[in-house]
Amino acid sequence: MQFQDYYTTLGVSRTATDDEIKRAYRKLAKEWHPDRHPASKREEVEKKFKAIAEANEVLSDPEKRKRYDALGEHWRHGQEFGAGGPGAAGAGFRNVDPEEFARMFGGRGGGAGGGGGGFSDFFAQMFGDMFAGRGQHARPQPRAQRGADAEAEIELSVGEALLGGKRSFALTTRVPCEVCGGEGRLASGACPACAGLGAENRRKSVELKIPDDAHDSQVLRLRGLGQAGPAGAGDLLLTLRLVGDDTYRLRGDDVEADVVVAPWDLLEDCRVAIAVRGGTATAKIPVGTRPGQKLRLRGQGLTRTDGSRSDLLLVVRLGLPDSLSDRQKELLRELAAASPPVRGGAASGS
Ligand SMILES: [Zn+2]
Repeated sequence: MQFQDYYTTLGVSRTATDDEIKRAYRKLAKEWHPDRHPASKREEVEKKFKAIAEANEVLSDPEKRKRYDALGEHWRHGQEFGAGGPGAAGAGFRNVDPEEFARMFGGRGGGAGGGGGGFSDFFAQMFGDMFAGRGQHARPQPRAQRGADAEAEIELSVGEALLGGKRSFALTTRVPCEVCGGEGRLASGACPACAGLGAENRRKSVELKIPDDAHDSQVLRLRGLGQAGPAGAGDLLLTLRLVGDDTYRLRGDDVEADVVVAPWDLLEDCRVAIAVRGGTATAKIPVGTRPGQKLRLRGQGLTRTDGSRSDLLLVVRLGLPDSLSDRQKELLRELAAASPPVRGGAASGS
């Protein structure tokens, strides 16, 4: 087993302050982040990245650092730690070549989530009992990264998109396992609480304010509702899928809805109140309008991708009062007797 010179890895002096360590770690972690290097160099870069994370893990935690420094003193006075490595023969901390250092992590790349599972044997031997012993305190320091963005889809009725308002939906998010702090493992092995995955599902209810420009396939970015991370949660990218409801349906960009009036309403110009975003609008059904005809309310539909608003199409339908008095029935029979039969739609004309 080889001694790990964490100070060299972070390029700081043995007397570095917490701030200096934090700054050095942030700079290196950014520089060696696997996402910033070509895939061909991935293995080397990941090793380096892990070495940096491990060094930070120890030096940013006062208790671990103390323990590490104590061992370092021993080692410097000739008590080799394990087999000794390159530069172990009394050369001191400074002489461990960073490349060599990075290679030490070589065989241990695995581990779910790339967390503690990738740390060196040296680290495991030195700090393993700290992990086993106490819960909170033994938790490894988080890397300063935001959680990943998450994606989800919800169905929104056309009426909701048209009229606005609020809408609750249930969301399942991945949060770090509380038992192992998201590392997926304890010193004794894989974390039993999360089966080594480092994360668990949590369901929560989210209240969405339906945006003014809600439309089908729209992607909303909801801040902080993505996967949890040490430096805050990522975002949720929520795709809206519009579906027709009892009243409203999509017709291309436009929204179509039935508007039901009585037959006698069509004898004169008739005005009906129509629900629109933020209140009601009045639609005029002109005399002479026939059932099935469509009235177009310009700009009262949904927002198009170019920002303009589509139209609301009202299809005029006939209806009768829910219950009819004997007098009303008598009048309707008189009307029937004086009229030719009216048939349409699926009804045969003969
Ligand atoms: Zn766990």
